[in-house]
Amino acid sequence: MHDYDVVVVGAGPGGSTAARSCAEEGLRVLMVEKRQEIGAPVRCAEGVSKSELSSLVEVKKKWIAKEVQGAKIYSPDNTLITLSAEQAGNEVGYILERKIFDRWLAKQAARAGADVLVKTAAVGVEKEKDGLRVKLRRAGEFFEVTVKMIIGADGVESRVGKWMGIDTTLKLNEIESCVQYLITGLEDMYDMEYCHFWIGHARSPGGYIWLFPKGNGSANVGIGVMPSMAKKPAKYYLDKFLESEGISTSKIVEVVAGGVPVSPIDRISAERCLLVGDAARHADPITGGGIINAMRGGKIAGKVAAEAVKRDDFSAKFLSRYDELCREDFGKTLERNKVLQKKILKMKDETLNSIAKSLEGYRMEDLSVTGIVKVLIKKNPKIFWDLKSLFF
Ligand SMILES: Cc1cc2nc3c(=O)[nH]c(=O)nc-3n(C[C@H](O)[C@H](O)[C@H](O)COP(=O)(O)OP(=O)(O)OC[C@H]3O[C@@H](n4cnc5c(N)ncnc54)[C@H](O)[C@@H]3O)c2cc1C
Repeated sequence: MHDYDVVVVGAGPGGSTAARSCAEEGLRVLMVEKRQEIGAPVRCAEGVSKSELSSLVEVKKKWIAKEVQGAKIYSPDNTLITLSAEQAGNEVGYILERKIFDRWLAKQAARAGADVLVKTAAVGVEKEKDGLRVKLRRAGEFFEVTVKMIIGADGVESRVGKWMGIDTTLKLNEIESCVQYLITGLEDMYDMEYCHFWIGHARSPGGYIWLFPKGNGSANVGIGVMPSMAKKPAKYYLDKFLESEGISTSKIVEVVAGGVPVSPIDRISAERCLLVGDAARHADPITGGGIINAMRGGKIAGKVAAEAVKRDDFSAKFLSRYDELCREDFGKTLERNKVLQKKILKMKDETLNSIAKSLEGYRMEDLSVTGIVKVLIKKNPKIFWDLKSLFF
């Protein structure tokens, strides 16, 4: 007799959604979180697409900090393109209060029947003939639980994958290094009904700078850079940007730093194991947004785990069904965006300016993808030729 059917490691959006999904499928599930408080400290700009989030959970006002209309994108020479929320990708629509959101998701998992242990870190896994022995550490004390399978939702620093034989190693060009400040007093400087993005390699090598409004004149202002392309740490570029924009550093009330994996991996399951969210490298290679895919993957993981328990089949072969379902759901978009990301990374700042100039003046809200393609063919055929494989 195992203590639980499934242990979920990590109580971020991926872990809590997976735990809830497992519990709703009738599994005995334990979710462990190494931090003492779920959702804090926040290492996130907290932006999500409205439609995507609404398709996953019933949206609650208490965890929405701000609703925005769209995105303003500034090219390296500050040519401005304005996109509607629907056009702007998986980070634009709602700005969450993740401290409340993550905790709410964990409560939903607990309400569905999952046991939750905070301040409890998974520190290792021992494979046994008929299951797994998961080693946990709580307040300095070690103990073990026996389970049929493990779901690794332990974020970018995931160790579960490695323990279970999945190669999750990230190279320097497969992770964005991020720094973010929560800054107040910005209401007179920016249109706070929009998310703002500044692109260009000189400003943010291999990444971008963002400003996501959180209401009352505050915003998450951050940067992601690719360590293989940046000569200095991310903070250097962000501080330079603040200076150039005249944003006072005396209004910073919170600082966070973290990494975002921006390269999908081939395998996200193994015998008795599924990986979810950042642990599965499911963040979007272009935007770095990972909340939605973590939740989508979590939902699928619960269903596949339930099927595995029902059949008593925890083989790598059966669980590879999870890889297939994730690929069908959002994996193909990740693969396409990886190709696009590689192309964008090779573009010089002049090319980005040239694309922005081609689109400047159009009401992007009114343009479909075909409309954008038509504008690019007309105004910038060379660029269009380079990107055409992405449209057709
Ligand atoms: C600066 C920054 C800005 C970002 N902005 C956005 C954004 O605007 N929109 C967006 O969609 N995404 C954004 N992301 C990415 C987003 O935060 C992640 O993709 C998302 O949190 C992934 O969810 P997750 O559940 O997979 O992992 P996480 O949210 O990272 O949760 C993993 C959890 O596992 C716990 N854990 C780790 N190891 C163990 C262990 N051994 N035992 C027990 N618990 C463990 C951790 O403490 C953590 O709570 C941003 C990331 C960064 C760094």
